[in-house]
Amino acid sequence: MAEKIFTRNFDRPNSHTLGVYRETGGYTALPKALAMEPTAITEEVKKSNLRGLGGAAFPTGMKWSFIPKGSTAPKYLVINADEGEPGTFKDRYLLERDPHALIEGMIIAARAIDSHVGFVYIRGEYVKPWQMFSGAVKEAYDAGLLGRNIQSSGFDFDIVIHRGAGAYICGEETGLLSSLEGKKGWPKIKPPFPAIKGAFGQPTIVNNVETIAAVPHIINRGAAWFAGLGTKTQGGTRLYSVSGHVVKPGVVEAPVSVTLRSLIYDDCGGIRDGRRLKAVVPGGSSAPILTADEIDVIMDADALKAAGTMIGSAGVIVMDETVSIPEALMVVARFYAHESCGQCTPCRESTGWIYKMAHRIVDGKGRKEDLDTILDVAKRGAGTTICAFYDGAVGPYVSYIEKFREEFEALIPRDA
Ligand code: SF4
Repeated sequence: MAEKIFTRNFDRPNSHTLGVYRETGGYTALPKALAMEPTAITEEVKKSNLRGLGGAAFPTGMKWSFIPKGSTAPKYLVINADEGEPGTFKDRYLLERDPHALIEGMIIAARAIDSHVGFVYIRGEYVKPWQMFSGAVKEAYDAGLLGRNIQSSGFDFDIVIHRGAGAYICGEETGLLSSLEGKKGWPKIKPPFPAIKGAFGQPTIVNNVETIAAVPHIINRGAAWFAGLGTKTQGGTRLYSVSGHVVKPGVVEAPVSVTLRSLIYDDCGGIRDGRRLKAVVPGGSSAPILTADEIDVIMDADALKAAGTMIGSAGVIVMDETVSIPEALMVVARFYAHESCGQCTPCRESTGWIYKMAHRIVDGKGRKEDLDTILDVAKRGAGTTICAFYDGAVGPYVSYIEKFREEFEALIPRDA
């Protein structure tokens, strides 16, 4: 049985409270970190091979090191708790069941980057996670773990909670920062990257909930331990949100070295009702789809990239033989058409066109040229837009059609 880090307290009664968190070793990493040099914290996180667990899988310690050295500007730590990627629901578990791990991780990360204010951007639909996390923040203030002169260390840190209003694009880090600043949640062209010019024009680190919740464990048990749990290029375990046609859907903690097959058949009990597996999306709706023959792949960022897909948010969507892939594409295409922020012409126009074409194919009114038109339109726009939203949409457009083309063709009238 693999070691549990993130989920170790999930089933304990009142796991969200300060008392239970402390009973299980909570807030013991904090004094260690407050006694360390900030650069030593960053180095430890670098050595742990912790990578961003929200989508991009960027090395966390390296990201922290991009904050300009010696800058006297205010620096901000921003936690992305927007969790809008379809098929992803693991951060809500952390916010509800282990919120103090995020708070402790935030204080340590803030110390590393010399930040005294952290923002937690929680998606608007997450009412219970917001309530639970807000309660934990209050407990931490009351216990002197947040605010001025934390544990007599001379270090000050405040947490501000900001609720989103339900736009997927606010999960993109620059869109999130625009929204946090009170503006329309529009992504911005990078560079400058947030580490140089982020929230309110100041150096900012944006990290995902799960990424920061790993930090206290790294400080307590050491970088080598965390790195040793994973693969050569990514340390630790992670949370997989597994949904769809498995016997036991839910949030599963497993090492990043687990295979997709093991996740589906060992951790989630296999395909329900004795049916056959047809396809799997391994990393949220933006990840290119895999066929049933492609699941002997390790779930770390590099192995999935080599397999032509991505780990993304580790939202694993399992589809059995009853699923219509054209219908699945239509649903995904409707989502991207609805959520495009509209700034970039290729994204604004193509997402709508592709949804309309996918819709008419499913309605039995497709035209012979539609599939090649979708592929052409999708590929032409890739890499031309302000943010990664459109490239994320291209993943399903292209992979669903290229891997299941016959299923689409069967829906198009012969005389069309
Ligand atoms: Fe907006 Fe799409 Fe452009 Fe991103 S790629 S900025 S979502 S229009």
